[in-house]
Amino acid sequence: MDVNKLFRKHLIQVQPYSSARDEFSGSGGIFLDANENPYGSPITDKYSRYPDPHQRELKQTISEFKKISASRIFLGNGSDEAIDLIIRLFCEPQKDSIIITPPTYSMYEVTAKLHNIDVIKVPLDNIFEPEVKDILHAENQNTKLLFLCSPNNPTGNAFPQEKVIQILDRFEGIVVIDEAYSDFSPEKSFFPLLDTYNNLIVLQTFSKAYGLAGLRLGIAYGDSNIISFLDKIKLPYNVNSYTLNIAKNTVLQFQSVQNNIFKILEERKKLIQALSNFHFVEKVYHSDSNFILFKTYFADELYRYLIEQNIIIRNFSQKPYCKHCLRVTVGKPEENEMLIKALSFFHK
Ligand SMILES: *Cc1c(COP(=O)(O)O)cnc(C)c1O
Repeated sequence: MDVNKLFRKHLIQVQPYSSARDEFSGSGGIFLDANENPYGSPITDKYSRYPDPHQRELKQTISEFKKISASRIFLGNGSDEAIDLIIRLFCEPQKDSIIITPPTYSMYEVTAKLHNIDVIKVPLDNIFEPEVKDILHAENQNTKLLFLCSPNNPTGNAFPQEKVIQILDRFEGIVVIDEAYSDFSPEKSFFPLLDTYNNLIVLQTFSKAYGLAGLRLGIAYGDSNIISFLDKIKLPYNVNSYTLNIAKNTVLQFQSVQNNIFKILEERKKLIQALSNFHFVEKVYHSDSNFILFKTYFADELYRYLIEQNIIIRNFSQKPYCKHCLRVTVGKPEENEMLIKALSFFHK
């Protein structure tokens, strides 16, 4: 597909900011070019220098780990930044549109609305899978992006590969697949399809399986043409030095990350079992993620009751497409036990 015709025209002309580090990128020497303070802060002098605006070291580490060229990796201040930039790169305000498949992650819609971009909603079917025909039917000449979230938040399920491929084969804009939870899923990641579809962008994040939500780091993988364009329109120093360093070392210790994922999967199994046994729980949805969606006709009461017990979960019962549903994140064993114990004292 010729993705060049999808970029917003005026951005093609824009010259990106050229930082001191762009104009001289050697590593030795006396650096008096960026107006930094040589003393640092009284707390630490580790952060007196600007971070690498191109994040070369971390991209190299991820490139070797994921076996993908560094030119196909974009790093952002959370995947939320990538979502924002992707919308800004392709969508003309008051003209273009995106397609989303509710119930899903609300940032796609929120961000599009902030930029005055139309949002076309094609709801998931009754087992929370995408309606391929309806999506393709909803697309028009101004539809630039389709956001799919797999495993989907807040439903928890991964989408079948065949359905996504049917969409990729026929959708005429960019398909963004948000894989924030794919490390918890037994289903295949859509990452390998990047070599087949140059209109595919896969989002991943350090916030969930990697346990670094507070550091704000998200990744977009895609065609190098799209990625270099995202790099051109981002803020110069969008990822800070501390984050770059911790993220690199976390990738290098993936075995420990994997161990934590295994623990969460074990706990998820136990929690699903326990939830299913409560008579006031109508349905526990299948989960390929680190959270569980369940349905109860006492959702609001149960939510409030748990808050009184100092346990906070997420209430979706008033949201369209998720009526009577609550979402709970899988915690540590002792946290999950407290939850189950509290539930066993809920009388309905
Ligand atoms: C948590 C989450 C993210 C992560 O966003 P960050 O900005 O990287 O923290 C992205 N997409 C979905 C669907 C999520 O649930």
